[in-house]
Amino acid sequence: MPTYIVLLGPPGVGKGTQAGILAKRLNLPHISSGDIFRENIKKDTELGKLAQSYMSKGELVPDDLTIAMIRERFSRPDCERGAILDGFPRTPAQADNLENMLSGFGGKVNLVPFITAPSEVLMERLVGRWTCRAKGHIFHERFNPPKAPGVCDIEGSPLFQRDDDKAETVIHRIAVYQEQTMPLVQYYQNRGVLAEINGYAPIEDVTSQMVSALKK
Ligand code: ADP
Ligand code: ADP
Repeated sequence: MPTYIVLLGPPGVGKGTQAGILAKRLNLPHISSGDIFRENIKKDTELGKLAQSYMSKGELVPDDLTIAMIRERFSRPDCERGAILDGFPRTPAQADNLENMLSGFGGKVNLVPFITAPSEVLMERLVGRWTCRAKGHIFHERFNPPKAPGVCDIEGSPLFQRDDDKAETVIHRIAVYQEQTMPLVQYYQNRGVLAEINGYAPIEDVTSQMVSALKK
Protein backbone atom coordinates (compact mmCIF):
# COMPACT_ATOMS: atom_id res chain seq x y z
CA MET A 1 0.00 0.00 0.00
CA PRO A 2 1.32 3.48 -0.84
CA THR A 3 1.88 5.95 2.03
CA TYR A 4 0.75 9.55 1.67
CA ILE A 5 1.65 12.01 4.41
CA VAL A 6 0.31 15.57 4.46
CA LEU A 7 2.22 18.05 6.63
CA LEU A 8 -0.19 20.60 8.04
CA GLY A 9 0.73 23.73 9.98
CA PRO A 10 1.30 27.49 9.75
CA PRO A 11 4.03 29.16 7.68
CA GLY A 12 7.42 28.76 9.35
CA VAL A 13 6.51 25.88 11.65
CA GLY A 14 9.00 23.54 9.96
CA LYS A 15 6.98 21.64 7.32
CA GLY A 16 9.64 21.93 4.60
CA THR A 17 12.44 21.00 6.97
CA GLN A 18 10.60 17.93 8.28
CA ALA A 19 9.34 16.92 4.83
CA GLY A 20 12.93 16.86 3.56
CA ILE A 21 14.04 14.62 6.44
CA LEU A 22 11.06 12.25 6.20
CA ALA A 23 11.29 11.97 2.40
CA LYS A 24 14.90 10.87 2.69
CA ARG A 25 14.19 8.38 5.50
CA LEU A 26 11.14 6.85 3.84
CA ASN A 27 12.55 7.17 0.33
CA LEU A 28 9.44 8.96 -0.93
CA PRO A 29 9.18 12.08 -3.11
CA HIS A 30 8.90 15.42 -1.27
CA ILE A 31 6.21 17.45 -2.99
CA SER A 32 6.24 21.12 -1.99
CA SER A 33 3.63 23.24 -3.76
CA GLY A 34 5.57 26.42 -2.82
CA ASP A 35 8.77 25.01 -4.38
CA ILE A 36 6.93 24.10 -7.60
CA PHE A 37 5.48 27.62 -7.81
CA ARG A 38 8.92 29.16 -7.17
CA GLU A 39 10.44 26.89 -9.85
CA ASN A 40 7.81 28.16 -12.31
CA ILE A 41 8.57 31.76 -11.39
CA LYS A 42 12.28 31.14 -11.95
CA LYS A 43 11.57 29.67 -15.40
CA ASP A 44 9.09 32.47 -16.17
CA THR A 45 6.30 30.09 -17.19
CA GLU A 46 2.65 31.15 -17.56
CA LEU A 47 1.83 29.46 -14.25
CA GLY A 48 4.77 31.27 -12.62
CA LYS A 49 3.54 34.65 -13.85
CA LEU A 50 0.04 34.01 -12.54
CA ALA A 51 1.20 32.61 -9.19
CA GLN A 52 3.70 35.35 -8.44
CA SER A 53 1.15 38.12 -7.98
CA TYR A 54 -0.59 36.12 -5.24
CA MET A 55 2.57 34.84 -3.58
CA SER A 56 4.24 38.23 -3.28
CA LYS A 57 1.18 39.51 -1.39
CA GLY A 58 1.04 36.46 0.86
CA GLU A 59 -2.31 35.37 -0.62
CA LEU A 60 -3.11 31.81 -1.67
CA VAL A 61 -2.83 31.00 -5.37
CA PRO A 62 -6.39 30.17 -6.60
CA ASP A 63 -7.49 26.55 -6.17
CA ASP A 64 -7.96 25.78 -9.89
CA LEU A 65 -4.34 26.71 -10.72
CA THR A 66 -2.93 24.94 -7.67
CA ILE A 67 -4.93 21.77 -8.22
CA ALA A 68 -3.96 21.58 -11.90
CA MET A 69 -0.32 21.91 -10.96
CA ILE A 70 -0.51 19.15 -8.34
CA ARG A 71 -2.41 16.87 -10.73
CA GLU A 72 0.43 17.24 -13.20
CA ARG A 73 2.96 16.37 -10.46
CA PHE A 74 0.92 13.30 -9.48
CA SER A 75 0.84 12.10 -13.06
CA ARG A 76 4.53 11.17 -12.70
CA PRO A 77 5.21 7.56 -11.70
CA ASP A 78 7.37 8.35 -8.66
CA CYS A 79 4.19 9.23 -6.71
CA GLU A 80 2.71 5.75 -7.03
CA ARG A 81 4.49 4.43 -3.91
CA GLY A 82 3.47 7.43 -1.85
CA ALA A 83 4.61 10.98 -1.15
CA ILE A 84 5.31 13.57 1.52
CA LEU A 85 3.11 16.57 0.78
CA ASP A 86 4.30 19.93 2.10
CA GLY A 87 2.07 22.97 1.65
CA PHE A 88 -0.71 21.16 -0.20
CA PRO A 89 -3.64 20.95 0.47
CA ARG A 90 -4.26 24.39 1.97
CA THR A 91 -8.07 24.60 1.49
CA PRO A 92 -10.92 22.09 1.84
CA ALA A 93 -11.44 22.16 -1.96
CA GLN A 94 -7.81 21.16 -2.46
CA ALA A 95 -8.18 18.40 0.14
CA ASP A 96 -11.28 16.99 -1.62
CA ASN A 97 -9.36 16.98 -4.88
CA LEU A 98 -6.41 15.22 -3.33
CA GLU A 99 -8.73 12.54 -1.97
CA ASN A 100 -10.11 11.91 -5.47
CA MET A 101 -6.67 11.89 -7.03
CA LEU A 102 -5.31 9.34 -4.55
CA SER A 103 -8.33 7.08 -4.74
CA GLY A 104 -7.57 6.93 -8.49
CA PHE A 105 -4.53 4.81 -7.65
CA GLY A 106 -5.88 2.99 -4.64
CA GLY A 107 -4.39 5.30 -2.05
CA LYS A 108 -5.52 7.75 0.62
CA VAL A 109 -4.02 10.24 3.03
CA ASN A 110 -2.60 7.97 5.74
CA LEU A 111 -1.27 10.52 8.23
CA VAL A 112 -1.52 14.27 8.78
CA PRO A 113 1.07 15.55 11.24
CA PHE A 114 -0.41 18.86 12.43
CA ILE A 115 2.60 20.88 13.57
CA THR A 116 2.12 23.94 15.79
CA ALA A 117 4.22 26.67 17.41
CA PRO A 118 3.44 30.12 18.89
CA SER A 119 3.14 32.99 16.35
CA GLU A 120 6.20 34.82 17.67
CA VAL A 121 8.27 31.68 17.02
CA LEU A 122 6.96 31.48 13.44
CA MET A 123 7.96 35.11 12.82
CA GLU A 124 11.46 34.59 14.20
CA ARG A 125 11.91 31.50 12.04
CA LEU A 126 10.68 33.07 8.81
CA VAL A 127 12.61 36.33 8.98
CA GLY A 128 15.82 34.30 9.53
CA ARG A 129 15.10 31.67 6.86
CA TRP A 130 17.58 31.22 4.00
CA THR A 131 16.55 29.04 1.04
CA CYS A 132 18.78 27.26 -1.49
CA ARG A 133 18.49 28.70 -5.00
CA ALA A 134 19.04 25.33 -6.71
CA LYS A 135 16.83 22.85 -4.81
CA GLY A 136 15.00 24.73 -2.05
CA HIS A 137 16.95 23.24 0.90
CA ILE A 138 16.17 25.24 4.04
CA PHE A 139 18.47 26.88 6.59
CA HIS A 140 18.13 29.39 9.41
CA GLU A 141 20.75 31.99 10.23
CA ARG A 142 20.61 31.07 13.94
CA PHE A 143 18.70 27.81 14.39
CA ASN A 144 20.10 25.78 11.49
CA PRO A 145 23.00 27.72 9.98
CA PRO A 146 24.78 26.58 6.82
CA LYS A 147 28.48 25.70 7.23
CA ALA A 148 29.46 28.71 5.10
CA PRO A 149 27.17 31.77 5.29
CA GLY A 150 25.06 32.24 2.16
CA VAL A 151 25.97 28.85 0.62
CA CYS A 152 23.86 25.66 0.57
CA ASP A 153 25.67 22.76 2.34
CA ILE A 154 24.13 20.24 -0.04
CA GLU A 155 24.17 21.91 -3.48
CA GLY A 156 26.90 24.54 -3.00
CA SER A 157 24.45 27.01 -4.57
CA PRO A 158 23.69 30.51 -3.21
CA LEU A 159 21.11 30.94 -0.46
CA PHE A 160 18.50 33.69 -0.70
CA GLN A 161 15.86 35.26 1.55
CA ARG A 162 12.34 34.90 0.19
CA ASP A 163 10.47 38.11 -0.62
CA ASP A 164 7.40 36.87 1.22
CA ASP A 165 9.43 36.29 4.41
CA LYS A 166 9.32 40.02 5.24
CA ALA A 167 7.61 40.72 8.60
CA GLU A 168 4.52 42.45 7.15
CA THR A 169 3.88 39.67 4.61
CA VAL A 170 4.42 37.01 7.27
CA ILE A 171 1.69 38.58 9.45
CA HIS A 172 -0.71 38.37 6.50
CA ARG A 173 0.30 34.79 5.61
CA ILE A 174 -0.41 33.66 9.17
CA ALA A 175 -3.87 35.30 9.00
CA VAL A 176 -4.57 33.63 5.63
CA TYR A 177 -3.53 30.30 7.14
CA GLN A 178 -5.92 30.78 10.07
CA GLU A 179 -8.84 31.64 7.81
CA GLN A 180 -8.38 29.31 4.87
CA THR A 181 -6.24 26.38 6.01
CA MET A 182 -7.25 25.83 9.65
CA PRO A 183 -10.55 24.14 8.61
CA LEU A 184 -8.36 21.23 7.44
CA VAL A 185 -7.59 20.36 11.07
CA GLN A 186 -11.22 19.34 11.60
CA TYR A 187 -11.38 17.83 8.10
CA TYR A 188 -8.55 15.38 8.81
CA GLN A 189 -9.60 14.83 12.43
CA ASN A 190 -12.94 13.60 11.08
CA ARG A 191 -11.03 11.10 8.94
CA GLY A 192 -9.06 9.86 11.97
CA VAL A 193 -5.61 10.64 10.52
CA LEU A 194 -4.58 13.78 12.42
CA ALA A 195 -1.52 13.60 14.72
CA GLU A 196 -0.70 16.65 16.85
CA ILE A 197 2.99 17.53 16.82
CA ASN A 198 4.72 20.16 18.95
CA GLY A 199 6.80 22.15 16.48
CA TYR A 200 8.37 24.33 19.16
CA ALA A 201 11.19 21.88 19.82
CA PRO A 202 14.56 21.13 18.23
CA ILE A 203 14.41 19.81 14.66
CA GLU A 204 15.38 16.23 15.69
CA ASP A 205 12.70 16.15 18.43
CA VAL A 206 10.01 17.15 15.96
CA THR A 207 11.18 14.38 13.61
CA SER A 208 11.00 11.83 16.46
CA GLN A 209 7.42 12.85 17.26
CA MET A 210 6.49 12.31 13.61
CA VAL A 211 8.22 8.96 13.41
CA SER A 212 6.31 7.78 16.53
CA ALA A 213 3.03 8.96 15.00
CA LEU A 214 3.84 6.99 11.84
CA LYS A 215 4.44 3.77 13.81
CA LYS A 216 1.00 3.96 15.46
P1 ADP B 1 7.62 25.85 6.70
O1 ADP B 1 7.91 24.95 5.52
O2 ADP B 1 6.56 25.28 7.60
O3 ADP B 1 7.33 27.26 6.30
P2 ADP B 1 10.48 25.65 7.23
O4 ADP B 1 10.79 24.20 7.32
O5 ADP B 1 10.88 26.38 6.00
O6 ADP B 1 8.93 25.91 7.59
O7 ADP B 1 11.17 26.36 8.50
C1 ADP B 1 11.12 27.77 8.71
C2 ADP B 1 12.46 28.24 9.29
O8 ADP B 1 12.60 27.71 10.61
C3 ADP B 1 13.69 27.75 8.51
O9 ADP B 1 14.65 28.78 8.54
C4 ADP B 1 14.16 26.51 9.28
O10 ADP B 1 15.57 26.33 9.18
C5 ADP B 1 13.76 26.87 10.70
N1 ADP B 1 13.32 25.71 11.49
C6 ADP B 1 12.60 24.63 11.06
N2 ADP B 1 12.34 23.78 12.08
C7 ADP B 1 12.90 24.33 13.19
C8 ADP B 1 12.98 23.93 14.56
N3 ADP B 1 12.41 22.81 15.00
N4 ADP B 1 13.63 24.76 15.42
C9 ADP B 1 14.20 25.92 14.98
N5 ADP B 1 14.16 26.34 13.71
C10 ADP B 1 13.52 25.57 12.81
P1 ADP C 1 5.65 28.27 3.75
O1 ADP C 1 6.91 27.45 3.63
O2 ADP C 1 5.91 29.52 4.49
O3 ADP C 1 4.51 27.51 4.34
P2 ADP C 1 5.16 27.85 0.93
O4 ADP C 1 6.47 27.80 0.25
O5 ADP C 1 4.48 26.57 1.23
O6 ADP C 1 5.30 28.72 2.26
O7 ADP C 1 4.15 28.75 0.10
C1 ADP C 1 4.52 30.03 -0.38
C2 ADP C 1 3.35 30.65 -1.10
O8 ADP C 1 3.00 29.85 -2.25
C3 ADP C 1 2.06 30.76 -0.31
O9 ADP C 1 2.02 31.94 0.50
C4 ADP C 1 1.02 30.79 -1.44
O10 ADP C 1 0.99 32.07 -2.06
C5 ADP C 1 1.60 29.82 -2.45
N1 ADP C 1 1.12 28.44 -2.21
C6 ADP C 1 1.87 27.36 -1.86
N2 ADP C 1 1.11 26.26 -1.75
C7 ADP C 1 -0.17 26.65 -2.02
C8 ADP C 1 -1.41 25.98 -2.04
N3 ADP C 1 -1.53 24.67 -1.75
N4 ADP C 1 -2.52 26.71 -2.37
C9 ADP C 1 -2.44 28.01 -2.68
N5 ADP C 1 -1.29 28.70 -2.65
C10 ADP C 1 -0.16 28.03 -2.33
